[in-house]
Amino acid sequence: MAKWLNNVLVKTVPFAPKFVVGLVAKKYVSGETVDDALRVINDLNRQSFNTTVDILGEHIQYLDETELYVNMYAELISRINPIKNSNTISLKLSMLGIELDRDKAWQNFETILKPAKQNRLSLCIDMEDSSLTDITLEFFKKGKSLYQDVTTVLQAYLFRSHDDLESILPLRPNVRICKGIYKESPKIAYQDPDRIREKFFSLVKILLKSDGFAAIATHDLELISVCEEYIKTNNIPAERYEFQALYGVPIQNTLKRLVEDGHTVRIYVPYGKDWYPYSMRRLKENPDIAGYIFKDFFRIKSR
Ligand SMILES: Cc1cc2nc3c(=O)[nH]c(=O)nc-3n(C[C@H](O)[C@H](O)[C@H](O)COP(=O)(O)OP(=O)(O)OC[C@H]3O[C@@H](n4cnc5c(N)ncnc54)[C@H](O)[C@@H]3O)c2cc1C
Repeated sequence: MAKWLNNVLVKTVPFAPKFVVGLVAKKYVSGETVDDALRVINDLNRQSFNTTVDILGEHIQYLDETELYVNMYAELISRINPIKNSNTISLKLSMLGIELDRDKAWQNFETILKPAKQNRLSLCIDMEDSSLTDITLEFFKKGKSLYQDVTTVLQAYLFRSHDDLESILPLRPNVRICKGIYKESPKIAYQDPDRIREKFFSLVKILLKSDGFAAIATHDLELISVCEEYIKTNNIPAERYEFQALYGVPIQNTLKRLVEDGHTVRIYVPYGKDWYPYSMRRLKENPDIAGYIFKDFFRIKSR
């Protein structure tokens, strides 16, 4: 989609009436409640997809807000089916108060981690903007020392990600590799799409050559096919990697085909009442999303 059109859309979409944004968010958010999310998860499981479930909300202003999210995660953990790692959970440290009080955020994280460990539910710490990279990796390392199924994310666009990966490789980590969604400065992040793709593939290869597990999180069909080819050529066993996609992104045909070919595919399923600010923030952070929404309105067909 032309950049100028994306920019026009970004400027106008935030003024759209809430119900219009709601229609769009409906496609990308499984609902407002845990029941909504469970319905979507069960449906995806029936289609042989695994899921990772995320409760919407980030960058809280007051520490007491964290209690709500911790309770919501506790409920989700008690109700989700972890059998054979088919469903996992994802969370953001900013919703646990990491920007306000690190000790409290750790306390919140541990409160979520304990029942997750009891229920053998894998827990992924999403990666947020670069101001939180160090602390996210710190929580990941500390969390993994308490429970081996704590996982995290590295962003291919950050210059530092190769070093970060090398530093955690001895832990035999499960790492989601993504391109990165936040607007980052050219001083610390690649801006060129081809360079980001190249870095993405290189991070995936490092994980696959080591004892790590690669969660290949992209909707970029070219990148999916390059990774698939590498996996095939090098006889990488199915328990060493998986493909991941966001709920609602129109690449169902590709995802179904991946499952049919014996690959594991995990869908990232967000839910919660915070869908409006989430959708708006995503629009501001990454104008390309306006293009995806625009395509959606015109029902551009699934790949
Ligand atoms: C499972 C998962 C978890 C993620 N977790 C994180 C995280 O923790 N931290 C982080 O910074 N980023 C995260 N991301 C976002 C990621 O960093 C990218 O910003 C996002 O996936 C778009 O990049 P892409 O690799 O899909 O390639 P792109 O080149 O952006 O997209 C490839 C094609 O897919 C389509 N597409 C991509 N995204 C969408 C969309 N939302 N709706 C409709 N079509 C779309 C477009 O048509 C585009 O042509 C995650 C992504 C996934 C799939």
